[in-house]
Amino acid sequence: MAKYCTNCGTLLPANSKFCPECGTKVQNNEIRISEDGKGGLIFDVPEGTTVTISDEKPEE
Ligand SMILES: [Zn+2]
Repeated sequence: MAKYCTNCGTLLPANSKFCPECGTKVQNNEIRISEDGKGGLIFDVPEGTTVTISDEKPEE
């Protein structure tokens, strides 16, 4: 199954995680969900949105 960069439209090599042209992270449409349907993470991110995952803990 061919994938194309969502940013620039470049044909992406199989298993590519980043676009070789523009470096955009490749959207993975095959997100695994745990068998019971719980505990799976689904990110519904609008196009153009940058998701930042931080390890910083909130101050208490
Ligand atoms: Zn690209």
